[in-house]
Amino acid sequence: MRPWNFSAGPSALPLPVLEQAAQEMTDWHGSGLSVMEMSHRGKHFLQIINEAHDDLRELLSVPDDFEILFMQGGATAENAIIPLNLIGRQGLGKADYVLSGIWSEKSCKEARRYGDVAVAGSSGCASVINGLSQAAFTWFPEPAQWQLRDDAAYVHLCSNETIGGVEFVNWPDLNALGAKGVPLVVDASSHILSRPIDFSNVGLVYAGAQKNAGPAGVTLVMIRKDLIGHALPHCPSAFDYANVAASGSMFNTPPTYAIYVMGLVFKWLKQHGGVAAIEQVNIQKANALYDYIDASGFYENRVHPSVRSRMNVPFFLANEALNTTFLAESEQAGLFQLKGHKSVGGMRASIYNAMPLEGVQALVSFMQEFERRHG
Ligand SMILES: *Cc1c(COP(=O)(O)O)cnc(C)c1O
Repeated sequence: MRPWNFSAGPSALPLPVLEQAAQEMTDWHGSGLSVMEMSHRGKHFLQIINEAHDDLRELLSVPDDFEILFMQGGATAENAIIPLNLIGRQGLGKADYVLSGIWSEKSCKEARRYGDVAVAGSSGCASVINGLSQAAFTWFPEPAQWQLRDDAAYVHLCSNETIGGVEFVNWPDLNALGAKGVPLVVDASSHILSRPIDFSNVGLVYAGAQKNAGPAGVTLVMIRKDLIGHALPHCPSAFDYANVAASGSMFNTPPTYAIYVMGLVFKWLKQHGGVAAIEQVNIQKANALYDYIDASGFYENRVHPSVRSRMNVPFFLANEALNTTFLAESEQAGLFQLKGHKSVGGMRASIYNAMPLEGVQALVSFMQEFERRHG
């Protein structure tokens, strides 16, 4: 049996997707060629990329006034590509950032290279939320308290902090918060396709594929069409949304194989009932793990219950001297990559779409047994 892979990214892919890719490796659909060997402008690859665009639009109900772009450079490159394309929109060069963890901090730092960037809100300090004492980056700044500039080009937030395990999905209407007409830009890298997206309050959603959508190498960008066409003069042509949109994500050679495998993941999702159905499984998985952790005196999750991530679950052993033993024994039990990010410590289980409930149950059983032996 294959191990259960709890890696934060690149992460587990659905086994049927890997098996289909293996089967089609040397001859895609009777073409005589591997997808890796095809012209990106030929009819075979055009079919692959068009279906991937269409399937993503269907899976997330992406509205017609949004463009879907497949890009390169990961979410990290997008952290620069976004200001390069958007910050000059009204000629003022201003953008506001909400800080909720390491990834949004990185986005903000990168954007500072391109304009007047301000912090709209931050959870980077300890606070008391609904009577609970929360450490830095274990809660999410309340939108009503964001300091927004009505002449900012956009407001950026990260909706799932992969390292901290903080998920925020109540994306506010910025018009109601005094930032009239300012679009919200969301880094959804680590929970894209795990739940539906409400596009009514956003201008741009982006995600690296390698957490929940496919292999590394392709980045998803869903952008409202009126936000395209405002790139700064020095924006690289390959990163200008107008060029990427006008060419159907083929301004230059796209990462063909990554797009192909991502397309298989989309088809796998559709076969399993789409995003609404996988969301129900994700809720069950997250509840199984959090409920056990909360009931145990041996393990602890420190994220405020209102913003705990369904995808990334950091947890600590009460006795941290047992960390090494926990990691060695879990790996022996076929549970891989449970070590927490070095900035947080402890453990982290990433339970993306490709992780079935069975895998989470195997983890909980192991944790129970470990607690029994060492508690
Ligand atoms: C992984 C991750 C990134 C960085 O992605 P790269 O593809 O490595 O650039 C950015 N934001 C979030 C939320 C992530 O999880």
